[in-house]
Amino acid sequence: MSYVDEVYSMVVEKNPAQPEFHQAVKEVLESLRVVIEQNETAYRRDALIERIVTPERQLLFRVPWVDDQGQVQVNNAFRVQFNGAIGPYKGGIRLHPSVNLGIIKFLGFEQTFKNSLTGLPIGGGKGGADFDPKGKSDREVMAFCQSFMTELYKYIGADTDVPAGDIGTGAREIGYMFGQYKRIRGVYEGVFTGKGLSYGGSLARKEATGFGLLYFTAEMLRANGIELSGKKVAVSGSGNVAIYATQKAQELGAKVITVSDSNGYISDPEGIDVALLKEVKEVKRARLTEYAAARPSAQYHEGRGVWTVKCDVALPCATQNELLIEDAKALVANGCMAVAEGANMPTTMEATEYLQANKVLFAPGKAANAGGVATSALEMSQNSERLSWSFEEVDNKLKGIMVNIFCNLDQAAKKYGMAGNYVAGANIAGFLKVAEAMTAQGVI
Ligand code: NDP
Repeated sequence: MSYVDEVYSMVVEKNPAQPEFHQAVKEVLESLRVVIEQNETAYRRDALIERIVTPERQLLFRVPWVDDQGQVQVNNAFRVQFNGAIGPYKGGIRLHPSVNLGIIKFLGFEQTFKNSLTGLPIGGGKGGADFDPKGKSDREVMAFCQSFMTELYKYIGADTDVPAGDIGTGAREIGYMFGQYKRIRGVYEGVFTGKGLSYGGSLARKEATGFGLLYFTAEMLRANGIELSGKKVAVSGSGNVAIYATQKAQELGAKVITVSDSNGYISDPEGIDVALLKEVKEVKRARLTEYAAARPSAQYHEGRGVWTVKCDVALPCATQNELLIEDAKALVANGCMAVAEGANMPTTMEATEYLQANKVLFAPGKAANAGGVATSALEMSQNSERLSWSFEEVDNKLKGIMVNIFCNLDQAAKKYGMAGNYVAGANIAGFLKVAEAMTAQGVI
């Protein structure tokens, strides 16, 4: 059995019932196979691949809180500090009923390579809880966030582990968590990113993942002789990433014709009205049916199906495994030329392979959505120097970082004989830096 297959078997055996984690490891190791085989003797001796697939630390804790009826509720919470070779652990907090250890491990593993790709000094981590902020009162959300942080504060800090938002963790939740950390520790430091602008947040952080996705996509298309302007774009999701991806796509001259949520999707041939979408999702926290009710050109469709809408470019921005093989077939049949992942691992491996085999340009999330964490790292820099940069300054740096990520992974793919395979390019470029840092730091 090859070294890669041995390590993958070990991961499956030692981490039972964690299919998302297995999937992420398999996808990364497969594309690293050629690099690992070239360095097999040294990597085997140092157990480098075994170490890179094993989190440095995994924290599991309960979060008790009292609901509005006076009933005590208990949630399971996690923080996985996956790899700190190139900087403090960095990665978001996901609050969603589907959260379990396997999901947090897959996200932390992916985050390690994504953070490396940004070129900034941040290690990989991720956290979350099976708490659903949807339908909870502000007081209930605050009670949960304060209880969550009352345990987590022991393990994080501006130079050790810096969490951020993710699904279900927006400005409100970050505010409550940051406030509780400050209260317990008595320290005002940049322990969280995605903070509000009045207390240390960075301009353009809210927009960064969606904007960055479009800077990356435009660069990838340009490198392949295609202009984004004038193209029809299908977006899934209608949360933070989807909203700002939609906004930037339209600013760059494309027309976004879909958005979705976990109940259904909107098709709007006139182009999504971003101001209305923000009003429905960010202000009212309502469902997409409200968007359809207020917009005559929009149609609401119950259930899955967003990828059956004819488009030139598809941007999955909702959640993992939302673009399946039948969706990939529909996209190819409809002439889609590029898929760029705004969400983390939204495309199944089978669907990714089908898209690549059919010459669809495919940008993996760890590269295409790295703008969020890159801007978080810029927020950390601003906090450290106790300064705030202008929106334009942050946005320009973001653009530079995304173009640079594309160049690095494009070159890595070419160097290893896989030109145009951006999945392999991203994994290789992200891996090499982490591997070098781990080797330099000895057996730790
Ligand atoms: P939000 O919570 O703001 O939005 C998530 C969106 O996805 C909502 O529209 C939600 O619909 C939809 N969704 C969630 N679960 C499902 C599901 N099972 N099926 C269909 N739709 C679903 O999250 P973000 O926009 O912040 O994150 C989206 C993705 O991007 C995630 O994969 C996240 O890890 C990734 N990401 C986010 C970054 C950031 O800066 N925010 C950075 C990098 C990656 P509903 O309202 O119905 O739940």
